[in-house]
Amino acid sequence: MWNCEADVVVVGYGGAGATAALTAAAAGARVLVLEKNPEGGGNTRYSGGTMRTYTDVEKAVDHIEALCDGTTERDVVRAFVNESRRNSEWVASLGGELVSMAAALGTHFPRSLPGAAFPSVRGADGLGPRVRVKGPGTAGGIDLWGVLSRNVAGTNIEVRCSSPVNRILMDKDLGVTGVVAASGGSNIKIRARRAVILTCGGYEYDRNMQRNYVGHSYYGMCNPGNTGDGVRLAADIGADLWHMNAVAATWGYKFPEFEFAIRQFMPSAGYIYVDQTGKRFMDETGTDAHIMWAPSSFVDTATLQRTRMPSYVIFDEDTRLRGAVAATFFGKVSDVYQWSADNSSEIKKGWITAADTIADLAPQIKMRANHLQATISNYNLLCVGGYDPQFGRAPDNCVPIARPPYYAMEMQPSLFNTQGGPKRNASAQVLDVRGNPIKRLYSAGELGSLWHRNYPGAGNVSEALAFGRIAGRNAAGENPVIS
Ligand SMILES: Cc1cc2nc3c(=O)[nH]c(=O)nc-3n(C[C@H](O)[C@H](O)[C@H](O)COP(=O)(O)OP(=O)(O)OC[C@H]3O[C@@H](n4cnc5c(N)ncnc54)[C@H](O)[C@@H]3O)c2cc1C
Repeated sequence: MWNCEADVVVVGYGGAGATAALTAAAAGARVLVLEKNPEGGGNTRYSGGTMRTYTDVEKAVDHIEALCDGTTERDVVRAFVNESRRNSEWVASLGGELVSMAAALGTHFPRSLPGAAFPSVRGADGLGPRVRVKGPGTAGGIDLWGVLSRNVAGTNIEVRCSSPVNRILMDKDLGVTGVVAASGGSNIKIRARRAVILTCGGYEYDRNMQRNYVGHSYYGMCNPGNTGDGVRLAADIGADLWHMNAVAATWGYKFPEFEFAIRQFMPSAGYIYVDQTGKRFMDETGTDAHIMWAPSSFVDTATLQRTRMPSYVIFDEDTRLRGAVAATFFGKVSDVYQWSADNSSEIKKGWITAADTIADLAPQIKMRANHLQATISNYNLLCVGGYDPQFGRAPDNCVPIARPPYYAMEMQPSLFNTQGGPKRNASAQVLDVRGNPIKRLYSAGELGSLWHRNYPGAGNVSEALAFGRIAGRNAAGENPVIS
């Protein structure tokens, strides 16, 4: 007995879900979107909204295939690149506009590089500039979620919030026939006459899954609703999983006041990272923001301690005065908190530790003063020589830490998003463990993303839109069945 029905049922109302719903509805399907949270937006609403453009399909396919270490089939990558090239036209059809990213981000650290994040990998010259949906000026001028949600509101798509899906229903001959969702304290059965599309995000807020799949846990900088439900829903009916060990992660600050971590964003190169023993461990300014999970995953093989979790950023008065050391100016975080331009509010709150000397700063972060002092003296010396033999930090980015007071902040590895989930093919169909499509089940977005560990940034939003449209079209094109 079904409680209600639609042609296409979309699970999760973020960027991929909104895109799939709009596309299926435009193809004539009756669409019902089920969202777990009281409101939609998901990780997409926290996002920088940056998308990659591709100028040469075959080169771009070569490039992404290489970044994915052969884990993603070439036809899947090609489908993604070809469909992504329509993002601009599609966003325009919704009344939005894709504009080239200001080079401004390139002057902050850790960088999201304006060009290719991996310029030496084959096919990098097939990538174009990064773009994003132009906004009204607030929220960093990013209006991706605004454009999507306003368009959904203007259609007959039904969106039911506070309705987490907890099961996918299968018939052995017909395939997927519907879902079970919690609604007002009870479970309801919803029939999908044509198909179900899973767009329910990753496992940014399931620390056990992270430890199990990636090897350690992270804080989320994103939507607390993303707890890996899609992985469990798909595994429950025999889907193959891929890219479970892949995440896009950078350094963030975690304060008890907020459930999410706040992204680090340094206004000048006058800073270093040190581990709990006071040692530097990477080129702080030359590593793309999205792959900073890699240095943080270090384990001391003698003690099994993770001495880089947390790590600390150390900077001086000059850097403090150059601008906020965090990014709270876009997405949903900007509705909740605005970081002060000179960091003075955060010093007052005790989020930033301050001291007149390094010797006084070190014990406040439980570090031996002579260790931290030696690291900073060495770093300041290499700034004079313009040569960082150990980590290869670029000479222009070697800016001394010399003017008191000195500052320290604890940093934690923090997630933009996870990539793992049910494996999909070029038609956005979810595959079973034998490589066959599970009938009438599609997916899009970061749940079961095509990206693997060498994630270059600006790929997940493009994927949410590209595979959202592929899934929406194909789901609407399924023959209706009565189960
Ligand atoms: C600070 C930050 C900046 C970022 N910047 C960029 C960027 O510039 N470019 C880029 O490409 N990527 C960026 N990302 C990553 C990108 O935003 C996401 O990967 C992408 O938006 C995911 O879209 P999605 O639709 O797949 O998932 P989401 O937008 O997360 O939507 C999933 C939805 O499913 C819901 N859901 C979960 N479980 C259930 C359930 N059981 N039933 C029903 N609903 C459920 C969730 O509540 C959520 O609303 C950034 C991320 C962060 C945090």
